[in-house]
Amino acid sequence: MTAEEKIDKIDICGLMPDELTEAFKELNEPSYRAKQVYGWLHKQKAASFDEMTNISKKLRSALSEKYRVTVMNPEKVLVSGIDGTRKYVFSLFDGNVIEAVFMRYHHGNSVCISSQVGCRMGCTFCASTLEGCVRNLTAAEMLSEIYRIETDTGERVSNIVIMGSGEPFDNYDEVIRFIRMISDENGANISARNITLSTCGLVPGIIRFADEGLPVTLALSLHAPYQELREQMMPVARKYKLPEVLSACSEYFRKTGRRISFEYSVVRGVNDTPQHARDLARLIRNIHGHVNLIPVNPVEETGYESPDRSSVEQFRDILTDEGINATIRREMGRDISSACGQLRRRHIKDAGVCTD
Ligand code: SAH
Repeated sequence: MTAEEKIDKIDICGLMPDELTEAFKELNEPSYRAKQVYGWLHKQKAASFDEMTNISKKLRSALSEKYRVTVMNPEKVLVSGIDGTRKYVFSLFDGNVIEAVFMRYHHGNSVCISSQVGCRMGCTFCASTLEGCVRNLTAAEMLSEIYRIETDTGERVSNIVIMGSGEPFDNYDEVIRFIRMISDENGANISARNITLSTCGLVPGIIRFADEGLPVTLALSLHAPYQELREQMMPVARKYKLPEVLSACSEYFRKTGRRISFEYSVVRGVNDTPQHARDLARLIRNIHGHVNLIPVNPVEETGYESPDRSSVEQFRDILTDEGINATIRREMGRDISSACGQLRRRHIKDAGVCTD
């Protein structure tokens, strides 16, 4: 199948159970057949119609006339010798590449997925945004990030963080579809309670998300306690100002009962002083949440530097003393270390697509 042919066909992996039943009705097929195919796609993680052995050849060929099954191949897998973290570069049917990360924790396996090819938010410390956003990922492609990793490792994934490349609320509908499908009990059945979605603070997205009835943890990329500094680090902050963003977070907690996770990438000489920590504590004191400190992962093009471990610990201790729950993110896969979006960039460069 060529890329053009694939585009013409509908991706069957992105259809919700009721949509699939509807599609089968049009083919004069009973609804239990739709259930079987849904199970093949989302429980057995089939990568082609040919694998669906209890479906007749005739039906399989009728399906493949109209539909395609997402196939995402791991182009590259880096495996950490320290903690088993695996970083994947996947190629999509249109030649684009994305990355996802598999991490083993004591509470289960977690996967960090991308929601877009690239990103257009422009955060000044982040590698994902350096070439802008190429396109949104479909729900089926996001599902496939999880499915292909489960198939590759032979292990079940129990937690998902939507924290890879891309801004999930810039691809709202497909991300919601993804969350509904991955948490569907007739599919992968990963509880929405075990999903965290990270946003740079698109207020309309946060407000809409609060009403979806999904018990997902919201992570807000805060990174600065002051409006001006936040704008320097995150251009999107010019549009959605701190008071508005924080009040949307409070609303999210009020409606969902889920505590907010504030992400704070600590950058040496930029946002890492004791004063920053005290002002951060003051800023979020009345919001139910905790702070996740991420020592910045240096990206060559940004010029930002990682802070000393001791200054991050001091920052955490100040927050704790001020009554704010704070943790320092454990670095996974130190030996295969690369910041958000760097692996994809390196892969594109090696393939000679990117010339800078
Ligand atoms: N667009 C979303 C999710 C993707 S980024 C968001 O902004 O939240 C996931 C998290 O990693 C964000 O908090 C982001 O600010 C942070 N991040 C990106 N690049 C980083 C880097 N080089 N070092 C540390 N944290 C980084």
